[in-house]
Parts: sequence; structure tokens; C-alpha cells
Amino acid sequence: MSRLLIAVLMALALAACKPDAETAAPAANVVDSTDVPDPNSYAQPNRVRIEHLVLDLQADMAARTLAGSAELHLKWQDDKARELVLDTRDLQISGVEGFDGKSWKALSYRLDAADPILGSALRIKLPSALPRVRIAYSTVPEASGLQWLTPEMTASKQPFMFSQSQAIHARSWVPLQDTPGVRFTYDARIRTDASLMALMSADNDPKAVRDGDYRFSMPQKIPSYLLAIAVGDVVFKPISARSGVWAEPSVAEAAATEFADTEKMIQVAEKLYGPYQWGRYDMLILPASFPFGGMENPRLSFITPTVIVGDKSLTSLIAHELAHSWSGNLVTNSSWKDIWLNEGFTSYVENRIVEQLYGRELADMENVISQSGLLEELKSMPTADQVLALPPLAGRDPDGALTDVAYIKGQWFLMFLEQRFGRDTFDAFLRHWFTTHAFTSSHSGEFERFLTVELLEKHPGKASIGEIREWLHSPGIPSSAKPAVSARFDAIDKAQAQWLAGDVPASGLASTAWGTQEWVRFLERMPASLSAAQMAELDDAFRFTGTPNPEIAQRWYPLTVRSNYLAARPSIEKFLTAIGRRKLIMPTYAELAKTEDGRSFAEAVFKKARPGYHPITSGSVTETLKAPEPDAVQP
Ligand SMILES: [Zn+2]
Repeated sequence: MSRLLIAVLMALALAACKPDAETAAPAANVVDSTDVPDPNSYAQPNRVRIEHLVLDLQADMAARTLAGSAELHLKWQDDKARELVLDTRDLQISGVEGFDGKSWKALSYRLDAADPILGSALRIKLPSALPRVRIAYSTVPEASGLQWLTPEMTASKQPFMFSQSQAIHARSWVPLQDTPGVRFTYDARIRTDASLMALMSADNDPKAVRDGDYRFSMPQKIPSYLLAIAVGDVVFKPISARSGVWAEPSVAEAAATEFADTEKMIQVAEKLYGPYQWGRYDMLILPASFPFGGMENPRLSFITPTVIVGDKSLTSLIAHELAHSWSGNLVTNSSWKDIWLNEGFTSYVENRIVEQLYGRELADMENVISQSGLLEELKSMPTADQVLALPPLAGRDPDGALTDVAYIKGQWFLMFLEQRFGRDTFDAFLRHWFTTHAFTSSHSGEFERFLTVELLEKHPGKASIGEIREWLHSPGIPSSAKPAVSARFDAIDKAQAQWLAGDVPASGLASTAWGTQEWVRFLERMPASLSAAQMAELDDAFRFTGTPNPEIAQRWYPLTVRSNYLAARPSIEKFLTAIGRRKLIMPTYAELAKTEDGRSFAEAVFKKARPGYHPITSGSVTETLKAPEPDAVQP
């Protein structure tokens, strides 16, 4: 997933080709895929594992439900087991059947009381270790992993639905073993309105006929959090022979232009880390209510439209979701405590793709921005959450592990290794990690072992095990970390200082060549607030208020709130109602919530915006706008 970057707020918290994955068998040195049982799942993978899933679902856009059946093909590790335990959340189960090799027979089952984080265990009684079980069920309109948009909330004024299964939301739309330690293949038949297209994290056919009846096949084993579905009025625009975009018709052309470098990105990543193993790489551009930047659903990354700004300056998001095709989707954290193995590696690979395609200067600027975001986030984070190799997340919502520690401290650790061992050695090491662990789930302990054997022992004297362990197991940023530097940002800082000192007017700054990252730097390093005259001067010179670039808006609007620059309020309202991506809008809500007047304005805007927000975003806003505790009231 793309980075959330909501620092203070939560102390928690991307068919034509034949796949060649089946030939990429893991090498013999891969130890077990799980170290400890996943506390965020009721599944018992040491007894039985799902090998294949067959979905047959009707997507009812009016009722906001998926209804039909999930057939599980099982591989038993323990032949004496007589119970199959599955993860569910708010599913309406109408029957369970078992297949004994000859016929289907009804089975008895029980749904446990719901745990607020984990949902309900579905316990199915079996007469023997049956090879197949089929569950008839329906989702509820409030399913945590699905968002149903009304026609008014989309560009084409047609209903839209999409899933977000990470971390543990797949269980709200499919009964299964919802742990990244279990991998399976799947087939699906999805029926819906004939006027709409259905897509999945599978072999989407760019030439599919729109008739409301769609079939999918995912021949590579994936963990449950990469199960994905979307239904809407989307059309396909090709970028290369193996890549393209699906988007609402009015967005498709702009998206294909913005993301035209996708094929080059795939080639860069392949050169570094080995062949792309998933067949096609397509992107689905979601409506602006998508709460994240992107989600790395295999073969079909889900992407926010907020990175389509016309100059390709935010396409590092595509590099990120694509990078997951190696880090995360090919080699997966076996439970959520090791999410840095997905996100830290992906942030590192993303930056390497950006550097190769757009140059070192852009890569450096992005690193400076992300490292300063991490350092800011660490200020308010419990030290126990600041380690890469987290303890098991028992009793915790794993969405909370998606912090900048996993993303940016993880990336920083790999940059440290690259600096110490040299780029050639480190590239070969990382490629070896991906190749030997392809299509498996792994954990921090296994990476530490692999790193010790393949890097430390083969290249002695470059880094000590103590340094490695400090990165993995200690809070904060180790003293061995080299902070990213950017000469372009030094120039921005200088220009800003001249303006603040009154030496150069805003209109006199040499800003014509500044891109998104430079503007972000310029705004992020401003004093907490500016005078009315300074705000008006900046707005006059650069037209920040009403900017079409949401990364600039994310920084400008909080500054307007702190500076009491009320002229921006109508544009703040437009921004907050048009976009539901959490990272972009939460900083403005957070600033508004700090004063009585700001909060009542934010509450009025939220009331209008809420029908267009994903439940994840609504939850964050609700939390932020809560009235402060009486003893915390400011004088
Ligand atoms: Zn990610």
C-alpha cells in the first residue's frame, strides 16, 4: 500500500501473457513460512491450508451486497483434524457443504461471537479431512473491505464498488483463512449489471465484452489480502503490450498519459530484480474517494486519481505499487508484525526506479521529504512501535502497523546496507532474496538469518551484526543512518529564507522550474504561521488557494488555518469534499480541529463530504473532530 503519512493523528496508523510463475519454485534454503501463529487470524494453517478458492458471486449494486458461494480446496496437514476454522466479519452465512470426492453434503457449523478487531470465527464440523468445502453467504452493505459508491460520487454517474482487503478486510467479503501466511490460487465468476465492468486481481482481459457476467482466474498463489474486486463504468486504455489503465471514461486518457512511463518502470525493476512474474500489469484508477494512494493488488494495482496532476511528478506512486510485484506480492510478510518486509523493501525499490527513470535529484528530494515525515512521526510514537521487527500484534488492529517506521525506516535500513556493501553487491543480494523466496511468505527472523549468511559472512568487515540488530530491534533511527540530502532543496531553503527576511518578494523568487517536490519543501519548512500580508503575497504570486495539485493543497491549507487566512475557506471546502484520500485531507482537518471556530467549520464540511468518503476516512475524521476532553481545553 502507498504510504499513509498521517503522522500525529494515529499512533498507528498499489491476460494475455502466459504466467511463468509455476516454474519459479522456491529454493531449498527457505525455512518454514511462519515463525509464530498469526494472532490476527483464527485460521490454523498448521492443520489445514486453503490451496484454491472458487468464488461465484452476484454484485448487487442497489442492495450493496455480494452474494453467492466460496468453495475452498483444502490441503490437510493433520488428517485427524475434524474442524475447519475460517475468518469472517459480518458475513451472513446461509449454509455450508462438504465434498467427499463423490457428492456434496450439508455440514454443521457455528459462527462465534464477533471480536471487534478479528470478526467471527466460522467453525465447520467435518466427518473427515474433506478435500472441498463450500460456503453460501452474503456480505452486508457495511462490509469493512468494500466501498459502494452512489452514482453521484463518480465521474460517470454510475454506481461503483471496490474492495480494500489489506490488512484483514478480505474476511468481510469472503470466508477464508485471512492471514498472509497462507497462499492460494483462485477462480471467480462475478455477475452484475450488464452496463458495468467487473475486474479482479486476476487475468483481466482488456478486450472483455461488457455483458455483466465475468470470469477470472488467478493462477499464481496469493495471500488473502491481495484478493481484490471492483465493479464500475471503467474502460481500458493500453500503455504497452502488457500494461494499461482501467478508468472511468472521462479520466482514462489523462491517466494513460500521466502513467505512460509504466512499461519503462517494469523494465527497470526487471533489470534489477528479475523477471516480472505476474503476466499483465494494469492499473485501475478509482474514484477520488479511495482512502489510500494505491493498493498493490496483483496484476491490477488500485490507484488514486489524485496523482494525475499533468506533469508525471507524482508517478513514484506507480513505481511503489509496481515494486510490490516483487516485495510483498512475490515475497510476503507471513504476519503483519513484519509488514516492513513488504513496505520498507517496496519504498526502497520504488526510489531505485524513480532514480533510474527520473534522476538522482528527484530520488533525493523524495527521500528527504519521507525521512523528515518519519522523524516527525517518531516524536509522538511509543518506542515499542518504533522497531522494524515488531512483536506479534495480538489484540491490535494490524492496520495500525502501517506506519512510516515500516515504510521509511525499513527503506533507510536497506539504504544503509546498500551504502555499506556497495550497490552491485546489494542489488545481487536483494535479487537473490526475491528469487529464493518467490511465492512464499517470510518473516524478520528469516531475513536476519539470510542477511547474516548471504551478506555479512560473505563480505566481512562491512557491517556488524550489532548494527543490523540495532536497525531491526531498537527504537528510533540508528546512529549509523546517513540522512538523505538534496542540493535542490538547499536552494529552496535559501530562496525561502530570502523571502522571509523580506530581501526578495515572492514574485521575485526564481520558482519557474520548481516541481511538486520543491513546492512541498517550500511550504513544509515555513514558520508555523505567517502574517496576513505574507499569506496574501504568496497566494498572489503562486495561486496556492484552489491549486489543482493535491500535494501542494495538503501543505498549503493547514498553513492557511494556522495563519487564520480565511480567504482560503471556500477552496478548503471544495478540496475536502472532492477528495477522500486520507493522507491528503487529514492534515487540514487536524489543523481545523484545534480551534472552536475551525472545528465547527470542519464539522459542517465533513457533513457534506462524508457520503463520498470511505469508512476508513470517515473514521479518521470523526476521531480527529472529537471535542477535546474537558481538562484538555485550551485557555
Ligand atoms: Zn506499499
